[in-house]
Amino acid sequence: MEEFTMTEQKVVLTGDRPTGQLHIGHYVGSLKNRVALQNTGDYKTFIMIADMQALTDNARDPEKIRHSLTQVALDYLAVGIDPAKSTIFVQSQIPALSELTQHYMNLVSVARLERNPTVKTEIKQKSFGQSVPAGFFTYPVSQAADITAFKANTVPVGDDQEPMLEQTREIVRSFNNIYKQDILVEPEGYFPPKGQGRIPGLDGNAKMSKSLNNAIYLADDADTIQKKVMSMYTDPQHIKIEDPGHIEGNTVFTYLDIFDDDKAKVQELKDQYQAGGLGDVKIKRYLNEVLQATLKPIRERREQYAADMDGVYKILKDGSDAANEVANQTLKEVRDAIGINYFD
Ligand code: ATP
Ligand code: MG
Repeated sequence: MEEFTMTEQKVVLTGDRPTGQLHIGHYVGSLKNRVALQNTGDYKTFIMIADMQALTDNARDPEKIRHSLTQVALDYLAVGIDPAKSTIFVQSQIPALSELTQHYMNLVSVARLERNPTVKTEIKQKSFGQSVPAGFFTYPVSQAADITAFKANTVPVGDDQEPMLEQTREIVRSFNNIYKQDILVEPEGYFPPKGQGRIPGLDGNAKMSKSLNNAIYLADDADTIQKKVMSMYTDPQHIKIEDPGHIEGNTVFTYLDIFDDDKAKVQELKDQYQAGGLGDVKIKRYLNEVLQATLKPIRERREQYAADMDGVYKILKDGSDAANEVANQTLKEVRDAIGINYFD
């Protein structure tokens, strides 16, 4: 098997749900890795706006999805995903994905789906109870379709996506086993450095999220960023400046660790903070400077693309055309393997 891995084409597939604008958690958790992989030139890269998946828990709010589609596209272009190097496409425009999902649905038990820890957490968070939509409950199967349609072996995502990758690998193994074909490819996750796989919210909540109102968005203007930083959760026991402060669980330092390249400076601030005598306002002002420097070029590029929305739609249309070709080819192989190619 080893010699096959050497010549295997490297393919990346990843994406986001268009349920809102992308934030700095997405940036470090996934977008940065995608741009890095894209720029190596070693990978064929597919980036999908997962509007079908977003509809699984937003069926009654299609306007939100429609609006967020272009927002996510702008965020992609702003961080440096380059349509000349990566195929950016829209999930709903690729019918083969829905048919693949249907075939894979037969290879997965309801009990197995119930064990997915990420889906379990999300069902609780969204307070679905017994009324969880069947489409939402089964979205890991549709993710398996997305990944395998492009024969992706590399999936750059945040930590919460590991159970989806495991589910996909199981489906690939079942398929290849039952239909005796080596059509589908088992994917590997490509995760951010330790500690950056799930960045906390401004409120100290475990996950910065589009839906929790605790995010700094890539599109936020300078004033908004500053206001958000100044309102951040720090150390609730650090009342007076002279008090020694805590670093662990202190979101300002968590962000500094991630966004500030000047590690010596961050260490110096940490030492001072822990010894006492360094106020929250000061560290927040410093973090504000660091974030402003990171986000300014992204915001400016976003504004440039936003001035030409026809151009953005063209990128999505061309990308979807290219993605259809690849996905249709995989679907044909899958249909042949199952033997439902009666009239060929
Ligand atoms: P939703 O609330 O609609 O599920 P989301 O914020 O979880 O939105 P997704 O579109 O589900 O965003 O996830 C897109 C990608 O971003 C995934 O790879 C996910 O792992 C990553 N991601 C999401 N939130 C964070 C975060 N706070 N830190 C790091 N990575 C994240
Ligand atoms: Mg999510």
